[in-house]
Amino acid sequence: MKQPVTLEKLQKFVSKRDNKKSKKNDYFLKFIEEVGELSEMINKDRKMNPGDERMKAIKHTIDEEMADVLYYLVVLANVNDVNLEEAFIRKTEYRDR
Ligand SMILES: [Mg+2]
Repeated sequence: MKQPVTLEKLQKFVSKRDNKKSKKNDYFLKFIEEVGELSEMINKDRKMNPGDERMKAIKHTIDEEMADVLYYLVVLANVNDVNLEEAFIRKTEYRDR
């Protein structure tokens, strides 16, 4: 059975790829760059006419840009010693019902 992805697993996975505290600034700039790319795609999607055949491609790109934003958010959490799950629960008062 497929196991769910958790924030904890994401943080471990990402830490094996990008985890240099000396690159904090670079990671932050990369995060902002990815937010910019996502913003561009959301803007394109907003301007699209209903039924336009390019909508599917834009939706796919929005998915990918969101994954990029999440990736660098997780990198930033790691290099700043933030436990994202704990922070999210604390901030939103999230309850698993
Ligand atoms: Mg991107």
